Amino acid sequence: MKTILTLLIPLLLSFSGYSGILKKQVPDKLVVFTFDDATASQYSVVAPMLKEFGFGATFFICEFMPNFRDTSKYMNWRQIKELDHMGFEVANHTQTHAAVSHLSHEQFIGELNYIEAKCDSLGITRPSTFAYPGYDLSRPVMDILQEKGYLFARAGGSHTYNPLTDHPLLVSSWAMTSNNKQQIMEAFKEARNGKIVVLTIHGVPDIEHAWVNTPPELFREYLQYLSDNHFEVIALRDLSKYVKAKKAMKTIVPDLNKKLKN
Ligand SMILES: [Zn+2]
Repeated sequence: MKTILTLLIPLLLSFSGYSGILKKQVPDKLVVFTFDDATASQYSVVAPMLKEFGFGATFFICEFMPNFRDTSKYMNWRQIKELDHMGFEVANHTQTHAAVSHLSHEQFIGELNYIEAKCDSLGITRPSTFAYPGYDLSRPVMDILQEKGYLFARAGGSHTYNPLTDHPLLVSSWAMTSNNKQQIMEAFKEARNGKIVVLTIHGVPDIEHAWVNTPPELFREYLQYLSDNHFEVIALRDLSKYVKAKKAMKTIVPDLNKKLKN
């Protein structure tokens, strides 16, 4: 009896998950690339390299102060629009890279609306995903994202995203830097059995914030590894191919006690 149950329960769980939250089975070797803060190298180095390998990605845009207007450090909006035209996802990271849990309801909506309006005025696809600046988040912030129709939001935490158990507004990620190659290579191996590996990446290289720098040679090594080993690299919004985010939001209780920062 016990044997039958141990066989049956996972089967039932996976079936209910499949019919309820999943549109189709999540394949092994599925990786999501997300790039934060609109650094200049994301246009000049990252986008062409991703195209070379046929990989997708999300670019989380904010106007990082005080140097956003310095085009040696950050992309301008013409370049951001070009990323959208190239087929990449342009998404919301607030106007000012705000610590969102400290904002009022109105202030947070204002931060979201600024990026949405900017995209709208430039003909960029309306953002449907969000990344918490500094991985700072709260339940009220998640409620606003949900009300505004956001489908996925990226946090930190250095563990996989399991669509059947993790709330879609609490998608975990690993942060790529210049000195954690072993950690990132180990992380890629966890992209199996329905679990998805999401990466937070900053500049390649990052001139302004050295602690989140990824050297271009190291980045190319990762891309080569993922390509040689037949991984699929997609944007965060592309998870909608597999996950019914709105359904998941109704059925999964968000676990805010989980490690969500890197
Ligand atoms: Zn950021």
